[in-house]
Amino acid sequence: MKVVVCIKQVMDPEAPPSSFKIDSGGSSVVLPASISPVLDLYSEYALEAALKIKDASNAQVIAVSLGVNLQRDVIKKPLSMGADDLILLEDEAFADSDSWTTAYALAMAIKKINDYGLILCGRQSADWGNGQVGLIIAEILGLPVVTMVRKIDVSDKKTIIERTFEDGYEVVEVPLPCVLIVSNEIGEPRYPNIRGIMAAKKKEVIAWKPSDIKLEASQIGFSGRRNNLSRLFQPVRNSKCELITGDTPEETALNLATKLRENKLL
Ligand SMILES: Cc1cc2nc3c(=O)[nH]c(=O)nc-3n(C[C@H](O)[C@H](O)[C@H](O)COP(=O)(O)OP(=O)(O)OC[C@H]3O[C@@H](n4cnc5c(N)ncnc54)[C@H](O)[C@@H]3O)c2cc1C
Repeated sequence: MKVVVCIKQVMDPEAPPSSFKIDSGGSSVVLPASISPVLDLYSEYALEAALKIKDASNAQVIAVSLGVNLQRDVIKKPLSMGADDLILLEDEAFADSDSWTTAYALAMAIKKINDYGLILCGRQSADWGNGQVGLIIAEILGLPVVTMVRKIDVSDKKTIIERTFEDGYEVVEVPLPCVLIVSNEIGEPRYPNIRGIMAAKKKEVIAWKPSDIKLEASQIGFSGRRNNLSRLFQPVRNSKCELITGDTPEETALNLATKLRENKLL
């Protein structure tokens, strides 16, 4: 069975906030050259779910990623973790995508892969966090979809899924093929081992351009967007610091308590 996993490259969420910049037009993030991108952590959870299925069967795991400037040492991580193939949809024409154009291109690539059993996505990306891509892929391909997946058991033509809640879980049965949106409860993504890292270095990626997946210019990037980003901005926070003093520690504490009470904080 082919298990397709959607993998996104994102700006490192651990990067210092001071490195986060927005262009003068207020519509896109300027990625700092000094900070390397990483794999979106929720994509890694989806990949871990796929690799667990591969551990238990002879599934073929195919990772697919859409973007521009995909860094090979970052984006090849799925191969070093154990994925069998990596398909990159990489083209300047994909710039300024929204959830719809991202999902549409991924769905067309999945159609080309053909004969898939499962499509796995993370529950939300670590950068834009829309939580929409997996649901839109399912809609375009006309497939059932289950969100918040924490456990997957595949048997013959169906899959038994555990869906997580705040205070429990439910068990659902879904026919194959289907889309599963994976939550972090699936378990920590495995570390690539040396053998995997060496194998990934040698493995060629599969590169598909928009025309390879029958996409017209009007369906991708900015031209295909269905939502309009009106404004992207960093909130400005003004803070004032006042030092509370006194002749003795007791008096300082009293002055502080009085100040807090005046400001209705006590
Ligand atoms: C090249 C590029 C340029 C962009 N420029 C802009 C811009 O100018 N303005 C703007 O508002 N937004 C921009 N975006 C962000 C874009 O709107 C979001 O990436 C898109 O809406 C997907 O939503 P999300 O990241 O919130 O994904 P979510 O729906 O939160 O992601 C859930 C899961 O879907 C899968 N997934 C998501 N994205 C991808 C992907 N690219 N490849 C493979 N799997 C994926 C992953 O499994 C992920 O865990 C850009 C994105 C790209 C790739």
